[in-house]
Amino acid sequence: MIEYENLYKVNQPFFEAYHRSFNEVLESGWYILGKAVQQFETQFAAYCQTSYCCGVANGLDALMLALKSFNFEAGDEVIVPSNTYIATILAIVHNGLKPVLVEPDIATYNIDPAKIEEKITPRTRAVMVVHLYGKLCEMNRINAIADKHHLKVIEDGAQAHGASYKGKKAGSFGQFGAFSFYPTKNLGALADAGALTTNDAALFEKVFTLRNYGSRVKYYNELVGYNSRLDEMQAAFLSIKLQQLDAINHHKRKLADLYLAGLKTDFIKPVVQPDYFDVYHIFTIRHPQRDKLRDYLLQNEIKTEIHYPVPPNKQKAMKGILDDQPTPIAAEIHATTLSLPISYFHTEQDIQRVIEVMNRF
Ligand SMILES: *Cc1c(COP(=O)(O)O)cnc(C)c1O
Repeated sequence: MIEYENLYKVNQPFFEAYHRSFNEVLESGWYILGKAVQQFETQFAAYCQTSYCCGVANGLDALMLALKSFNFEAGDEVIVPSNTYIATILAIVHNGLKPVLVEPDIATYNIDPAKIEEKITPRTRAVMVVHLYGKLCEMNRINAIADKHHLKVIEDGAQAHGASYKGKKAGSFGQFGAFSFYPTKNLGALADAGALTTNDAALFEKVFTLRNYGSRVKYYNELVGYNSRLDEMQAAFLSIKLQQLDAINHHKRKLADLYLAGLKTDFIKPVVQPDYFDVYHIFTIRHPQRDKLRDYLLQNEIKTEIHYPVPPNKQKAMKGILDDQPTPIAAEIHATTLSLPISYFHTEQDIQRVIEVMNRF
């Protein structure tokens, strides 16, 4: 059986280092907001080419706190891609803001910059872009539109740790980059964890305060804050894995190259564009008989996933929130997309086997 994901195997190369750092944190006697968090924040900011990083509890909180820091008014609008993972939308809704869907480019699966301006109203305050599957959005065009209309830009980088455009990294283009370190992400912890990156000192102070009960000095609360702290243990593990993130991304890119070269043209493959360094958090193909293909692969002992089976505006939870915004392109992607095995533990032989079976479909 070729598995889709196996977190034991993904983390096995790090076990020895993790055991050592577990002991260090355990024996330090300091478990919340200490040296390990500070060290990881410094390292991750440097990695993302930003001035600041603020560790938080998870990716959803990173997105929510980024929006919270701007003090938008209830009912203000935030532009967001129609085919994103639900977390991006929830961060907007939980802030009392209105998600306004913009369709993706069917070739890149990322928000189509040409369709943003027609959705801007006097109440639009921000664009929340998502670097889906590990490919950067067209940030130069998006930032130009945001500047022209005085909008904030937040990057959901939960699938794009280390992805870049002309050498400029995910999380360094907008006012904020929001990251998740959920265990399956390219940079994954052993529990929930997340972070925000920014170049803006005042915004950094704001989220830094918000994540810890609105307090900078213990027992003095300046803001109506939250408890959304990255813990010492996960920060210590993340510092270790961060050193190997480029190697992890390199491995996934090598596997992606095999798929790109080997899969027959019946399958619509991810586009490869000059200057874009994609990190293939997910390797997705599209095919009109997706469900049949998925069954066929399973019969041949190959597991796959669908990212995602239901678009946000068709989710039950979004009734009365998004269901008045039709999104035919997102619907087409959700109906045809299939994610192939591309984890850190997969070998080139695994991928060759998937290609060989796929090409007989
Ligand atoms: C994983 C993910 C998130 C949410 O991260 P959590 O840490 O699970 O809260 C947000 N956005 C996207 C695009 C994701 O893939």
